[in-house]
Amino acid sequence: MCKKVIISACLLGHLCRYDGKTKKTTEIVEAFKDFEIIPFCPEAPIFGTPRERISVINIDGKNRIITDETNKDVTKLLEDEIYSFIKKYPNTDLIVLKARSPSCGFKTTPILNENREKLYDGDGIAAEIFIKKYPDIEIKSELNLF
Ligand code: SF4
Repeated sequence: MCKKVIISACLLGHLCRYDGKTKKTTEIVEAFKDFEIIPFCPEAPIFGTPRERISVINIDGKNRIITDETNKDVTKLLEDEIYSFIKKYPNTDLIVLKARSPSCGFKTTPILNENREKLYDGDGIAAEIFIKKYPDIEIKSELNLF
């Protein structure tokens, strides 16, 4: 049985980014051609594409996901989408995530304060949940994959 890998869908060529574009990375598609690839994108199914940008804002010590223009807290919507993905795909051998995204970023996402000034590079909401829910699975950012 071939190995499974969860990969951020925009890295695979899906047109699911906020701007309606992709971030297809041929090296990643090639590297996992013998794996069963499970595409993952929590934002597009909820907000559609294209959509308003979102950011990780640290409010009272907790990271929340807030829309950039309308200032809405969409944390719960994303959490529900991510948990339902995990329920559908409880098993994988590896996870590869798009860098700097408020959802997918792994140790690379700008965490902002309430004035939208950068505090540090941390995890997007999906990476944060994946770390807890797939505790024995290696998670890699696209940036340190090779
Ligand atoms: S980084 Fe994640 S949430 Fe953003 S478009 Fe890519 S797969 Fe979707």
